[in-house]
Amino acid sequence: MNNRFIALGRATEHTPVEVKPIVEGQVKAYFAKDVFTRERMKEYIASTVLEELFDAVDNGRTISRDIANSVAIGMRKWAMDRGATHYTHWFQPLTGGTAEKHDAFFDLRGDGSIMEDFSGNALYQQEPDASSFPNGGIRNTFEARGYSAWDPSSPVFLVGDTLCIPTIFVAYTGEALDYKTPLIRSTAALCKAAREVCWYFDKSVRHVHTNLGWEQEYFLVDEDLFDARPDLMLTGRTLMGHSSAKNQQLEDHYFGAIPARVLNFMIDLEHEALRVGIPIKTRHNEVAPNQFEMAPIFEDVNLANDHNLLIMSIMEKVARRHHFRVLLHEKPFAGVNGSGKHCNWSMQTNTGINLLAPGKNPYQNLQFVTFLVNVLMAVYKYNGLLKATISSATNAHRLGANEAPPAIISVFLGKQITEVLDKLEKASAKEGIIINAKKEMKLGVATIPEILLDNTDRNRTSPFAFTGNRFEFRAVGSSANCGAAMLALNAAVAEQLMDFKKAVDTLIDKGEPKERALFEIIRKYIVACKPIRFDGNGYSEEWKKEAAQRGLDCETSVPVIFERYLDKQTIEMFKKTQVLTEAELQARCEVKWENYNKKLQIESRVLGDLVINHVIPAANRYQSILLDNVLKIKQAFAPEEAQKLAANDSLMIHRIADHVSAIIEGVDEMTKVRHIANRKINEHEKAIAYHDTVVPLMENIRKHADELEMIIDDELWALPKYRELMFIR
Ligand code: ADP
Ligand code: MG
Repeated sequence: MNNRFIALGRATEHTPVEVKPIVEGQVKAYFAKDVFTRERMKEYIASTVLEELFDAVDNGRTISRDIANSVAIGMRKWAMDRGATHYTHWFQPLTGGTAEKHDAFFDLRGDGSIMEDFSGNALYQQEPDASSFPNGGIRNTFEARGYSAWDPSSPVFLVGDTLCIPTIFVAYTGEALDYKTPLIRSTAALCKAAREVCWYFDKSVRHVHTNLGWEQEYFLVDEDLFDARPDLMLTGRTLMGHSSAKNQQLEDHYFGAIPARVLNFMIDLEHEALRVGIPIKTRHNEVAPNQFEMAPIFEDVNLANDHNLLIMSIMEKVARRHHFRVLLHEKPFAGVNGSGKHCNWSMQTNTGINLLAPGKNPYQNLQFVTFLVNVLMAVYKYNGLLKATISSATNAHRLGANEAPPAIISVFLGKQITEVLDKLEKASAKEGIIINAKKEMKLGVATIPEILLDNTDRNRTSPFAFTGNRFEFRAVGSSANCGAAMLALNAAVAEQLMDFKKAVDTLIDKGEPKERALFEIIRKYIVACKPIRFDGNGYSEEWKKEAAQRGLDCETSVPVIFERYLDKQTIEMFKKTQVLTEAELQARCEVKWENYNKKLQIESRVLGDLVINHVIPAANRYQSILLDNVLKIKQAFAPEEAQKLAANDSLMIHRIADHVSAIIEGVDEMTKVRHIANRKINEHEKAIAYHDTVVPLMENIRKHADELEMIIDDELWALPKYRELMFIR
């Protein structure tokens, strides 16, 4: 650490905390050490029970109480053998993050003696104090109870002395109060719809999985500096701060070596991640100073999402051991890159075929094009909704900020796939699908596999990009639960595939050969979804104009974007795919507006406090030093000379006074409009008021505070500056 904070005795110079790297070859022994894996279950649970359990998990069937009981006993034994004393249901409320309530593994018998206990019931279901979680009115209108229930498709794991059981969180009446429930429903919907389309090509497909590989970006800040910034502590981002003269212009951070302190943190983090079965593979510096990224190998979306949530909490803990604070906010610092969480998404059959990877023969390629084009159609139809899924008060600062995905959803395909689609579009039905006498099929563009070998075509400005064998949804925010975006994408693609199948079957019923019918509908779709395809510069002003002309959703106000959850076609789509009911959607939207309002209310208050308690006092102190100087000059020199000598100080005094008045007026005005917003009962209207009236005033206050930071004596400025926060040595 490099700064006056150490000089002033307000921060400590931290040396790297030593960690031992896992030696090559030991990873296997280390991996998933704290997970109750299928392998380990075999040691603790009878094979007949396991057969039923695995069958239920793999085929989406309900697990009986008897099975749950037997599993619970084995689970407890394993956990206690590993020194666990407590267990918790671990779930994903709509606030973001995860929630847990720990219970000890014992109970009292009637006679007061202690009995070690963990029954199937405790495994199966718990009733957390649901009133403390947001519900968007669901529990008020129905029944006040909420339940967490075991998700057997995600393995239980140990954190410290506690056995963590991944669970869904639902209301008494069954409505989802979390992200996991609809995510699981969406994978079921997509599996069903995709499987039926697969059957055109291969009758043996039984299951289609959705894969997610997330890339988590984050910032690290030294803990002493973090503690000296109330805005970072209370809101996760800096509400003010002048840019550092040097930030990311030289791109030296991205390519540079990882600082020793940070590397040790990363190694430590990877140890913890591997133990709980998170297959972390990649670590590197990111573009902005102090910004980093890590990524695991992709997994089934439900498990991958659990793992992402788990790693976010582990990161916080490990960072503290290294005297860091981890910032998962999408935009902790203005003027440098924000953090995202790229979601790499694909569909895969139980026969091992990646449906988004070009195949080895024309049949597989027709299948590839079928799925690719259906994804394009789904993203086209629901581009507004997909934007709503990634929008939040925090991600709003990142999107459209000229180094992050734009606030318009479009799809990048790259030159080669674009050529393939263009060719298919122009080919006549006869040229596109050639079936020769031996009933062999040839696709008009037979060369897909060869062309794709060179898939280096990347466009960093696209929010949704095809990257060779998957789509990468880049607009997702670093602090988000990926589930929100993934469940909407799964559901939209599921609905789209259902529509596709209906259209193809109609043609087949009319006597068209299957391949021609497929080709005809695909071609129709290629034309229909053209507006969503954009390979150009997503940051440019021209794109904003063009996107509007193409009819894409260009809204930038977050509270308005949320309305897309309640569009007629969205409600229909979620209903048709049985992922979310209208009541659940309304509740979700309500929670989103409520969260938005709470976050902005906190930010606005913190900013008000900071400028009044930190900035203005520092400005006044400096102004008073300048005034002293002016007085002394006047005593020491003749009036004419004194006038000249004091000119600069006088100018500065005026400037400070102007900024201070602007800030005071701004805070008064901001408080007034905030009170008006707060009086609105309706969360939607309140959110719009916050967005339209509070936010612009906050920005203006910040501008004046940042100007003051530039002119006030460094020693008097009590808050760590950007140049201090952003550089770790
Ligand atoms: P990048 O070049 O974007 O950094 P990486 O190779 O680091 O790409 O991969 C990023 C993530 O994408 C990783 O989690 C990786 O496992 C995942 N990924 C790779 N192939 C697929 C796939 N077919 N489906 C889903 N995720 C995938
Ligand atoms: Mg990537």
